Amino acid sequence: MSVRVVVVGAGPVGTLLAIMLAREGMQVDLLEARTDSRIHDVYEGRSINIALSERGWLALSRVGADDAVRAVSLPMSARAMHDREGAVTLQPYGQPGEAIWSVSRAAVNEVLLDLADQEPNITVHFEAVLAAIDVPGQQASFTRPEHSDLKLSFDYLFGADGANSKVRRLLAEDHGAEVDVRRMGHSYLELTMPPAPDGSHAVAADALHIWPRGNHMLIALPNPDGSMTATAFLPDEGKNSFASLTDREAIESLFDRDFPDARPLLEQPVARFLGTRPSMLALAKVSRWVFGGRVALIGDSAHAIVPFYGQGLNCGFEDCRTFADLLAQHNGSWAPTLAAYEAARKPNADALSELAMQNFTEMSELSGQPEFLLQKTIERDFHRAHPELWVPLYTQVTFLPEVSYSEALAAGVRQQKIMDQVMALPWVADADRSADVQQFLLDLVTNHHQLNF
Ligand SMILES: Cc1cc2nc3c(=O)[nH]c(=O)nc-3n(C[C@H](O)[C@H](O)[C@H](O)COP(=O)(O)OP(=O)(O)OC[C@H]3O[C@@H](n4cnc5c(N)ncnc54)[C@H](O)[C@@H]3O)c2cc1C
Repeated sequence: MSVRVVVVGAGPVGTLLAIMLAREGMQVDLLEARTDSRIHDVYEGRSINIALSERGWLALSRVGADDAVRAVSLPMSARAMHDREGAVTLQPYGQPGEAIWSVSRAAVNEVLLDLADQEPNITVHFEAVLAAIDVPGQQASFTRPEHSDLKLSFDYLFGADGANSKVRRLLAEDHGAEVDVRRMGHSYLELTMPPAPDGSHAVAADALHIWPRGNHMLIALPNPDGSMTATAFLPDEGKNSFASLTDREAIESLFDRDFPDARPLLEQPVARFLGTRPSMLALAKVSRWVFGGRVALIGDSAHAIVPFYGQGLNCGFEDCRTFADLLAQHNGSWAPTLAAYEAARKPNADALSELAMQNFTEMSELSGQPEFLLQKTIERDFHRAHPELWVPLYTQVTFLPEVSYSEALAAGVRQQKIMDQVMALPWVADADRSADVQQFLLDLVTNHHQLNF
């Protein structure tokens, strides 16, 4: 008899996992609390835009979903940084030809749901909300508003139910796991930048736009229909916070002061601020991902992080790919696979969580500072000349899935120590001495015994 797997949550990670397991001959029930977004507009026309990068593409290509997702995605080769005066500086993400891809989370999810529908071994249940899990009895129950409750038996169950995971809530503490769920202290609000009158994008479509303003920022990512999805990230309380922006005047003055070039391009930003509750950013960590040898967490339910490295979903997709690889390595035997999965992924998710917090500072503060831009240029030039000696941290995380998040985090610390010495040179910004700067960096790196950058 085939192995029966229940996957709770038909978000992008749960759906990808279900497809991978079904193709290994398992019988999969995929359960989703919401209604089917392909039939009813559950997102009310709005969905988070995701920057997809190599780790995500690699996992999607495993199930043949990459072409369909790429067809609804747009490449972004650079960060376009807008200063308060409206000047724009382009910061390439990598070498020519390298890009991250903008796609709505709903679109990725729907491509995967279409694929899941074609798998004879998958049964998808919408509007089925997890109520309880009996691990020793190997049963899970779900409530359904339109139907009677559902009870399913399983050999294994995955919690792919997102940052606010009920699987985690029901099981972690009872199984001796430490759970740390926190608010970041910032929230976000989605805004729309409609197409220009000629149908083109209102700002360059091949870039991720950022208006960095210290403890708050605005970003905008392109959509295939000519619109841009913009997101304002603000602290919950204090200066420039959502709590302080309660009347029209305060919101208008924030936009006029901080985002003057973006304001006329956005669809009623002030009304949207006044009429919409912002969504909070939450972090979740749990010390164990596998419970009772039968239940495991995957995706955001295991590791909700702040979104500032553009890696949350990429990491969740990598979880799925790693799990499938490990299952194959262990000849389909679940007990060693589950142990190896937790051991392989948990340290990487922790490392990514740290990288993502660091990148908030980079995006919201540093990306607007000349010294930071200079450092990035020096690193990029050095990488181009000596790719075997130096790969920038962003490149390792975004374009090199063979480098784990933990390895990238450690390499980033070593690199920053070296770059601190370079940036301390009194003549570092002298354009006539850029060759000397490169030589100084080469000497430093060589003296560090070529530490596998
Ligand atoms: C503003 C923002 C920007 C982001 N940008 C990026 C980016 O650029 N790149 C990137 O890689 N990631 C990004 N992310 C992160 C990304 O959105 C998440 O990592 C990703 O959605 C996680 O997928 P998931 O399937 O694990 O969880 P989710 O997408 O949260 O899906 C979980 C599913 O489970 C369902 N569910 C929940 N509870 C139950 C229940 N009790 N019973 C049944 N079903 C249930 C939910 O309805 C949902 O469909 C961003 C996130 C935010 C908030």
